[in-house]
Amino acid sequence: MAYDDSNIFAKILRGEIPSDTVYEDNWALAFKDISPRAPVHVLVIPKGAYENMEAFTRDASDAEIAGFFRAITKVAELTEVTTGGYRLIANNGADGNQEVPHLHYHVLGGRNLGSMLKRFDD
Ligand code: 5GP
Repeated sequence: MAYDDSNIFAKILRGEIPSDTVYEDNWALAFKDISPRAPVHVLVIPKGAYENMEAFTRDASDAEIAGFFRAITKVAELTEVTTGGYRLIANNGADGNQEVPHLHYHVLGGRNLGSMLKRFDD
């Protein structure tokens, strides 16, 4: 599917709507989630136009991929969740309940986050 550059994160990248930036480099932008689920809840997005993990790993250069994942670690370090631990979530596609069609990783921490997911047979 073609990337839809009207999505909210594309607008944040273009500076059309504000965000609370936590970290930025050549490859990634990280900003606070508008509706935080934990004391630390930061979204990390690649600067390139990639809808999801398939598009990113298929079309991004090795430098973009390395830069993006290093940025995620940088955010964990800057927000000081590396000591207590943290969770990375990338909701991807329909069953993943991905709301914004620009690849993003959630960095969550600052409290115990409980178990990963409810068991599917509960
Ligand atoms: P998804 O469900 O796609 O993984 O997560 C999208 C996330 O983007 C949600 O956690 C939501 O709170 C966040 N979000 C949606 N719109 C905005 C916005 O305009 N600014 C910021 N900072 N976060 C947003």
